[in-house]
Amino acid sequence: MSDWYQRTTDDALQTLGVDASRGLDDSGAARRLAESGPNVLIDSGMKSPWRILWEQFSATMVLILIIAALVSGLLGRVNETVSILAIVVLFGLLGFAQEYRAEKALAALKKMAAPQVRVRRGGGVRQLPARDLVPGDIVLLEAGNIVPADGRIIESAALAIQESMLTGESEPAAKITAPLSGDDLPLGDRHNMAYMGTLVTGGRGALVVTATGMRAELGRIAAALQSVHETQTPLQVRLDQLGQWLAVAGLAAAALVMGLGLLRGDGLRETFLLGVSVAVAVVPEGLPAVVTFTLALGARRLLKRQALIRKLPAVETLGAVTVICSDKTGTLTENRMTVVMLDAAGHRLDMQELDPRHALAGAARDGVTSPVNPAFMLLVGGGALCNDASLRHEPGGTETHVLGDPTEAAMVVAAARLGLLKDELDRRLERVAELPFDSERKRMTTVHRAGIVPGLDLPAAPYVAFTKGAVDGILGATAQVWMEGHVEPLTAAWRTRIESSNDDLAARGMRVLGVAFRPLAAIPDGSALEQDLIFVGLIALIDPPRAEAQAAVQTSRDAGIRPIMITGDHPLTARAIAGQLGITADGAVVSGQALNAMSDAELSAALGEVSVFARVSPAHKLRIVEALQARGHIVAMTGDGVNDAPALRRADIGVAMGITGTDVSKQASDMVLLDDNFATIVAAVAEGRTIYNNVRRFVKFSVGGNIGKIAVMVLAPLLGMPLPLLPLQLLWLNLLTDGLLGLGLGVEPSEVGVMRRPPRPPGESILGDGTGAHMAWLGAFIALLAGGAGWLYWMAGQPGWQTMVFSTLAFAQVAQALAVRSARASLLRVGLLTNKPLALLAALVGLLQLAVLFIPPLQVFFHVMPLGVLDIAISMGLGSLVLWASELEKAVLRLRCR
Ligand code: ATP
Repeated sequence: MSDWYQRTTDDALQTLGVDASRGLDDSGAARRLAESGPNVLIDSGMKSPWRILWEQFSATMVLILIIAALVSGLLGRVNETVSILAIVVLFGLLGFAQEYRAEKALAALKKMAAPQVRVRRGGGVRQLPARDLVPGDIVLLEAGNIVPADGRIIESAALAIQESMLTGESEPAAKITAPLSGDDLPLGDRHNMAYMGTLVTGGRGALVVTATGMRAELGRIAAALQSVHETQTPLQVRLDQLGQWLAVAGLAAAALVMGLGLLRGDGLRETFLLGVSVAVAVVPEGLPAVVTFTLALGARRLLKRQALIRKLPAVETLGAVTVICSDKTGTLTENRMTVVMLDAAGHRLDMQELDPRHALAGAARDGVTSPVNPAFMLLVGGGALCNDASLRHEPGGTETHVLGDPTEAAMVVAAARLGLLKDELDRRLERVAELPFDSERKRMTTVHRAGIVPGLDLPAAPYVAFTKGAVDGILGATAQVWMEGHVEPLTAAWRTRIESSNDDLAARGMRVLGVAFRPLAAIPDGSALEQDLIFVGLIALIDPPRAEAQAAVQTSRDAGIRPIMITGDHPLTARAIAGQLGITADGAVVSGQALNAMSDAELSAALGEVSVFARVSPAHKLRIVEALQARGHIVAMTGDGVNDAPALRRADIGVAMGITGTDVSKQASDMVLLDDNFATIVAAVAEGRTIYNNVRRFVKFSVGGNIGKIAVMVLAPLLGMPLPLLPLQLLWLNLLTDGLLGLGLGVEPSEVGVMRRPPRPPGESILGDGTGAHMAWLGAFIALLAGGAGWLYWMAGQPGWQTMVFSTLAFAQVAQALAVRSARASLLRVGLLTNKPLALLAALVGLLQLAVLFIPPLQVFFHVMPLGVLDIAISMGLGSLVLWASELEKAVLRLRCR
């Protein structure tokens, strides 16, 4: 059998049993899907539950506990062994439950982030998840797509595909439809094939799928991809280190205490038990699970706010963002374009003052032949021909929809209002070649076979090309101007007139596109198309700023985050919109051209002052990110096009557009805005700050509490007291605190004013901003309270002294959980019930502890002595001192702040 690339397109389509214009029908596709299986390489679903379970029980911390259980067993304390193991299992299950939920949340996110493809099926075009593709499907490709399966190219309009991941060749390959000869051509030479995972960098086209899933070329190297594993976030890495560091410190302390005990002549059993206890006290069991859980749950909360997290580390980086670089169109504005002004042959036509007969539906239905100046007709006609949007009328209804890019859609509507219907234009002036739009050239050209359209007068020639795009660029390729039926040279006076008209419209915040045409005897190829143009006129569109954008700009400023606008539009348009939104006060704008002339140092200096960049191309975005990072900023950068990928990858938070973004930009991003909205970035930053604060709060709480417990364990023998707490009791305390109270802390709502503070310094450690110091003193204080109570009772010869230590520690940690909720604001201000889960958990923990103290079987199990009500009241009172002490700390901090 010959290879796909050796066949003609017809032969390939026939072999695959599909009609290119209709695509497969649903039942056929379903049958094929059952045969070929889903189009996936590696299951990007969730970790298997077994693996999660295994990870719970293979962590270093758990191993320490298991060794502790074994040592207890060897010492003959079988009860202890069983209980430690029981608690290890309980903790394992708790960790499992948290991690399983986190994994599920992440798997759902991953599913949402999976690419969609446009496919011809059952005679129409449909959007499908890439995993549903089958051999024989007709897939439509355009710049920015990731090729979803292997296939034979059957349509190509300047289709270019970058295949470096398979071929190593970084220059995009031009794709053709003709068959190729030769056996075993290398992949890079198969110019009529496209392969899964490669990137469409330009043009448009279609392919018929020949291989999916593991049968695709990429499948052969998929083994290499399989080894790509989930990376931990920097925070997780640092916390793991902290955990290990604590474990080492704890073991050292245990060794020290044991050594001292042995020197003093204590029994071997006692000494070992002490060692086991200290080791148990030091293990922050809940830490890894709670962090994963908080981050993953945070990602889910972000999703509710329309921000889809693609990479977990983004959740924590978000909170540290200092600059948001945003596109204008669609992000800060609504991307609802309307043509408001036409300017041609020295005249203007205000579309808003047009006769109501020119309303879209009426004009489209009645075919209004209008009395307007023929120059305007050529202007909108050219704008509608050099255009990929289309008008759809509901059969029988009066509704008319426009499909396609908003700028182009608006032009199709404008033409229809003047009586030129795009369908009709396309039929009479058939498109035979094109140079698609790209954001570097900022224009697009189509070539049409000449034809006759009522109302449109064109010079006679076999072909006519229309170009539309940025006015500056088009004027550069123009030598003549069209004047109501004849051509005049583009004199300096004309040029000045056009430029000042352009500036005038742009300064009102409008997007202005120029339209030009060129009669042709034959079709030249490539860039030779866009020269010797005849200028027709200007089309000005408005795109209102998003209603919520202005408030979001203000919020980000209050939060110490600088918004920067980076747009492909004209500097004056950019300045007008940026001014309306409050992004710039002085109206300073740097253009792409000026940027080209700047050295890195000059750019860095400019970035100190200027917040608007216009007429930039994607390469400039990369330079801007790098310059900002060199100034020490943490940068969020938006992008939607293929060429934005490098800047998105480079930015600390690459933000892609969910609606208008290309697959390539989404793949390069850390976060996708499902609503393309600037305000969503700001909301995500607020959420990111909250999540980071919650993790930090948990660390403060958990590690602070453990410091308290270790200190009690180490100090007691130094004071000559016997073992104050049994391993089992310590585990119980950890379960109550890390396990239950920790969960409540993970869902702490945003602190008031999170967005009224500057971002945290980029390099700040998790223990920074006073966290470490707070943790240390509070830990010491807890040790003092619990140890002190125990010591007094011990000195008084009370048999329940150990139980006093146990009980005081439990209540102290409940108080600590409440205290740690805010770093500065008093709990009274914050309100006890603003975190209801925590309030409930605190009550529950209190009750559980009382149950252990009062219910006889539990007393036996936990080796506690019955205490009197007064003793328990004392231990509660002592525990609550933690709350009062930290309220005092907060008051001092508030005073100092003032
Ligand atoms: P922003 O960066 O603010 O989102 P943008 O991404 O919309 O702006 P581009 O789409 O790159 O910017 O557009 C830049 C310029 O290219 C526009 O000012 C316009 O002159 C021109 N342009 C935009 N769309 C088209 C199009 N469909 N055909 C021809 N020219 C276009």
